[in-house]
Amino acid sequence: MTYQGLIRRYGRLLDLPAHTQIISLLEGATPLIPMPRLGRELGCELFVKFEGLNPTGSFKDRGMTAAVSEAVGRDAQTVICASTGNTAASAAAYAARAGLRAIVLIPEGKVAAGKLAGAIAYGAEVIQIQGSFDDALSLVVEITQKTPIALVNSINPYRIEGQKTSAFEICDELGAAPDWLCLPVGNAGNITSYWAGFKQYQKGLPQILGVQAQGAAPLVLGHPVEKPETLATAICIGKPARGEQALDAARESDGRIIAVSDEKILEAQRLLAAEGVWAEPASAAGAAGLLAESAAGTLDARGKRVVVVCTGHGMKDPAVIADSFQAPKVISASYEALTETIQY
Ligand SMILES: *Cc1c(COP(=O)(O)O)cnc(C)c1O
Repeated sequence: MTYQGLIRRYGRLLDLPAHTQIISLLEGATPLIPMPRLGRELGCELFVKFEGLNPTGSFKDRGMTAAVSEAVGRDAQTVICASTGNTAASAAAYAARAGLRAIVLIPEGKVAAGKLAGAIAYGAEVIQIQGSFDDALSLVVEITQKTPIALVNSINPYRIEGQKTSAFEICDELGAAPDWLCLPVGNAGNITSYWAGFKQYQKGLPQILGVQAQGAAPLVLGHPVEKPETLATAICIGKPARGEQALDAARESDGRIIAVSDEKILEAQRLLAAEGVWAEPASAAGAAGLLAESAAGTLDARGKRVVVVCTGHGMKDPAVIADSFQAPKVISASYEALTETIQY
C-alpha cells in the first residue's frame, strides 16, 4: 500500500479525538541513516534519524498533522503559534492544506531565513514580537484562552501524540529501541514525545541524552534563562513549556540533559555534513552532546546502538554556513585558471 501519512499509519496508537479530520502532507517515514564513519570513531553503531526530510524540513510536521487535523475536526477557522521558526513553517503549511488562516508570532530578529521564508511562502501572517520566544508563547496562550483560535504549539497535547510516531518508526526499523537516543531540547515537546512513544511501543527503552545550548540551558541550570542566546535558534528557549516532563524522561530513562557550546554544535554540524547529512545547527546538538560525553568518558557508546535525531534540515539556516566560511573563490572562466586553482 502506498504511504498515506502518519495518522493513517499509526493512528490506532495515537490518542486523537473521534472528530479528527485528517490533514496530511505525507509527513514521517523519514530515513534512519547509518553513519559508519562517525560511528567507527565512537566505536558504536550510529544512525541519524533525519527529520529534516519531513515536508517542511523539520520534525514539527509530525505533531502538526495531528494538531491541525484535530482543529479542523472541531471547525476551527484559525490556528496560531509562537515559534523559533520551524513550528511557524509547519503550522503555515498544514493550515494552507486545510484552508485555514495561520498566524505566527516569532521573536524579532531571531528566526533563520529559511524558516521565515517558509512561513511566508505557505501564506501565514507572520508577526515579529519585541521579545523572546517565551514572551510570544505567553501571548498565544492568552489569546487562545479568550478566543476560538486554535493553539498549535507543543503544549497542544495532539502535537505530542503525533510526534510519538518517530519512536515507533525507529523501533520498526531497528526491530527494537536503540541503547541511546540523543536529541536537542528546546521547549521540550520532542523529548517528551519520544519517551512517551518508546514506553507505549514496548520494544525496549533507550537511555535518553537531551542536549541544550549553553546559552539556553534552563534544564541544566535548574532555573529559567531570562535572555537565552545561541546560534542554534530552534532551541533558543529560556523557559521550556515541558521542562518537567523532559527531566522526567531523562531520569526515568537513566539518561540526562546536558549543555554544549555553540562551537561544539557547529563542529558537530560539520562532522555530520562530512558524512552527507546537513542538519541545521540546533539539529546537530544531539550529535554534539554524544561527542562531548564520549570524549569526557561520561558516556560509553562502545558496542552500543545509538540514534541521533537530526531535527531539521541544514537548508533552513544557510546564513550560519555563509557566516562561518569564506566566500568561494572567483576565477576567470578559463581552463588554465581552473586547473591552477584546483592544482590538478
Ligand atoms: C523545535 C525544534 C527543536 C526543539 O524541539 P522541542 O520540542 O522544542 O524541544 C529542535 N530542533 C529543531 C530543528 C526544531 O525545530
